Amino acid sequence: MSGLVRDLEGLLEARRVFAQQEDLLAYTNDATHRRVFPEAVVQPLTTSEVGKVLEYANRKRIPVVPRGAGTGLSGGATPVPGSLVLDMKRMRQILEVDQRNLTATLECGVVTQEFHKAVERLGLFYPPDPQSMSVCTIGGNVATRAGGPRGVKYGTTKDYVLGIEAVLPDGEVIHYGGKSVKMSSGYDLARLFTGSEGTLGVITKVTMKLLTLPPYRQSMVAVFGELDAAAETVSAIIAAGAVPSGLELLTKSSIETLEAFIPLGLPKDAEAFLLIELDGHEGKVHEDAGRIIAICEAHGVRETKIAQSAAEAERMWFARRALFPATARLAPNVLIEDATVNRTEVPTMVREIKAIAERLQITIGVSGHVGDGNLHPGILTDKSNPELMQRAEAAMGEIAKKALELGGTLSGEHGIGTLKAPYLEWEFGREGVQLMRRIKAAFDPNGIMNPGKIGAEWGGANV
Ligand SMILES: Cc1cc2nc3c(=O)[nH]c(=O)nc-3n(C[C@H](O)[C@H](O)[C@H](O)COP(=O)(O)OP(=O)(O)OC[C@H]3O[C@@H](n4cnc5c(N)ncnc54)[C@H](O)[C@@H]3O)c2cc1C
Repeated sequence: MSGLVRDLEGLLEARRVFAQQEDLLAYTNDATHRRVFPEAVVQPLTTSEVGKVLEYANRKRIPVVPRGAGTGLSGGATPVPGSLVLDMKRMRQILEVDQRNLTATLECGVVTQEFHKAVERLGLFYPPDPQSMSVCTIGGNVATRAGGPRGVKYGTTKDYVLGIEAVLPDGEVIHYGGKSVKMSSGYDLARLFTGSEGTLGVITKVTMKLLTLPPYRQSMVAVFGELDAAAETVSAIIAAGAVPSGLELLTKSSIETLEAFIPLGLPKDAEAFLLIELDGHEGKVHEDAGRIIAICEAHGVRETKIAQSAAEAERMWFARRALFPATARLAPNVLIEDATVNRTEVPTMVREIKAIAERLQITIGVSGHVGDGNLHPGILTDKSNPELMQRAEAAMGEIAKKALELGGTLSGEHGIGTLKAPYLEWEFGREGVQLMRRIKAAFDPNGIMNPGKIGAEWGGANV
């Protein structure tokens, strides 16, 4: 038994410490392709156990990689060599749903969809809906500022975090915020941890804002002969103020992929589809649906199809959620981009992605939460083919650069991780990145927390 394992078994139960290759294999990557074995994995059950492990790792200068469900798409939870992975899924209790204050306090390992179900049983609503929600954790969502289709109307995870409990690398526990919906005291540490991708400390508990459940929902699909027309329709819908609770774009290649996986009966010869959801009071939903159909018609829609039942609507959204697994069947590896632009730039960005695909002779399927300008180009590649991989990575870089040129951002919701760390200066300049690096060093002077994530050279002696 190695000294590390012996030491860890002194801190928490031996059956929650793993160091055998067959156990570690499941932790070698997130949903991206690069695999690195960690040295060991631990599964803490309490904040105090997280504190003990971090204090030990900090003293021994062992890199620590916090992990939720490992569904991240930017390499954030992929280990670094010699690291200790903190698997947070065992901290999965919903500690309180406060129906009078409309808040919930929960541990970081709660699965997002389980949280949805728990509050919806009480007539309450937690909107953020990453398409991985049946698996991903609230801690991972907070650490990446995750979004989802409902972001267009309700915002993303960052808009719901009221309070946070986190463990710093030296094992100290900090609390910031709580049930109070207003707070103007000091630096907003809850916001700072939100999107920190495990580089500042480990989030153990959060207090989230809740809403009341909308009484009525309606979903529809709009089928377009031209991709440009669909993209222009998105801008027109937003400009008209009929804000849907979901506004997703799927292109021809995405639909072909989906139809092969889950037949929905959508026309395969169409170029683009908008999947739209409206929620609120029934009368208002019908009124907005009418306005949206009129906008689609003004932009030459071929056909609109309204879901006739909750089951049919769920089937449409299930298909949308299945897009990534369906795409993953098409090629050995898929790089999912996350470039985000202002909503008015969606049509230009879609055209640019098509041009990049043609120039680099590579297949890119475009889909995304276009209602909030967030595109998810899926770049088909194969890591065993270095030449193809090079073109795929070049496409990622070009898409990221184009989004920034159009006034957008490198990541709308997946975070920077390792995949986009080399581009960080493009968005924030040298000064901006240096300031972030100094913030990181203030929290984590020994650079043990998730080194190499967000900043390519952050961590170890380089903090
Ligand atoms: C099929 C599919 C669909 C997806 N759809 C969406 C989508 O619609 N919207 C979206 O935003 N994302 C989406 N994602 C990406 C991913 O699911 C999200 O980024 C999610 O928030 C990751 O949660 P996780 O629990 O899996 O975190 P992980 O992947 O385990 O970790 C993500 C990052 O958070 C850090 N982290 C995790 N837990 C903690 C903690 N307790 N404290 C500190 N740091 C922590 C990790 O170190 C890492 O940097 C999708 C992924 C897949 C595979």
